[in-house]
Amino acid sequence: MDHFQYQNGELFAEQVPLSKVASKVSTPCYVYARATLERHWHAFDQAIGAYPHLVCYAVKANSNLAIINVLARLGSGFDIVSGGELQRVIEAGGDPSKTVFSGVCKQPWEMRAALEAGVRCFNIESVGELETLSAVAAELGKVAPVSVRINPDVDAQTHPYISTGLHNNKFGLPVDRALPVYLQAQQDPNIEVSGVACHIGSQLTELGPYNEALGKVLDFIEVLAEQGVEIQHIDFGGGLGIRYHDETPPSPADYWSILHKQLQSRNISIPITIEPGRAIVGNAGVLLTEVNFLKSTESTHFCIVDAGMNDLIRPALYDAYQEIVQVSQRTDVEEKSYNVVGPICESGDFLGKSRSLSVRSGDLLAVRSAGAYGAVMASNYNARPRPAEVMVDGDQIHLIRQRESLQKLYEGESVLPS
Ligand SMILES: *Cc1c(COP(=O)(O)O)cnc(C)c1O
Repeated sequence: MDHFQYQNGELFAEQVPLSKVASKVSTPCYVYARATLERHWHAFDQAIGAYPHLVCYAVKANSNLAIINVLARLGSGFDIVSGGELQRVIEAGGDPSKTVFSGVCKQPWEMRAALEAGVRCFNIESVGELETLSAVAAELGKVAPVSVRINPDVDAQTHPYISTGLHNNKFGLPVDRALPVYLQAQQDPNIEVSGVACHIGSQLTELGPYNEALGKVLDFIEVLAEQGVEIQHIDFGGGLGIRYHDETPPSPADYWSILHKQLQSRNISIPITIEPGRAIVGNAGVLLTEVNFLKSTESTHFCIVDAGMNDLIRPALYDAYQEIVQVSQRTDVEEKSYNVVGPICESGDFLGKSRSLSVRSGDLLAVRSAGAYGAVMASNYNARPRPAEVMVDGDQIHLIRQRESLQKLYEGESVLPS
């Protein structure tokens, strides 16, 4: 359930008609519902209940300061993948000591910033990274808490671009290669072995791969124990899918129940960290866009809107399906099957294909499930300003990011001297 519902044929975000948002901030713009965001975070936190845990929202899904801040107020931890995301977490009032640092290619400056901020754990993915981190920690006179991200070689059964736990993916280390890294870490005075990490992919709609991955993580923890390496937490990553179209993803409660069953049957009570991104913010946002022109060719009806692949790239990048709905339902125009396309000069610039709509130029559309991997992936291609972002809270409209100005687009550029 989300908080984008029709009332008398008008689509609302919480208690605000989306048409009101459009007239206030114009289109294209992202609109988030605070209540949905909070509801989804609580769903994970409450599902895990009394088992020792930390829900670390994956910032890369949507890193707007207001989103981070709303979750920080709930006590959320954060999963970051860059120094830029760390700075956003700090700026938004997030707690670095509840922040885990993931990513395959952390730079020394990012390690330094994270050590100084006091992050909870570095999830490292190669022996080279361990050695660089050790050197940076030594320089600062600090000890870096570390998990090694293992690659459990399970098939997440999701889109290949967002599948990360197979042996041929760049992520993590196979268990047989992770073991010597732990033994080396254990000997390193600048490193403290903290946990084992794993993240097998995104938009998972089945629980089997999770259960299989957890089994491999727990087997590996036994191997580590035999070698005298004590593990204080399991970081099980994110990846739970959402409903975009006709998927039937498991709920956070179903997800936890299968993991908990396995932990209990093996008599394990090591604290767990999870890193959901999409499942928290995906269905908490829509992209609001205006129909500018309609045109038909012999084969196709086109609905040309003011949002393009630079604003929302998922359809173009992953051939992803996102529902497109009318902000005002109407019956006075013939329904047609449209390809909904944007202004970008690429034939890959579409938001949806073969969508039944009754629309006129000037009507508003909402692309649903746009809260995750939407605004964060927006670009300035075709010299287009990135869209505004709004958070609705009850009957309030808060502008949480201004639309970029044209001048901002070439800030930092310069021409050659004459
Ligand atoms: C992307 C990512 C996540 C979040 O994935 P979602 O599918 O958005 O839940 C969590 N952890 C790591 C390490 C990631 O790379």
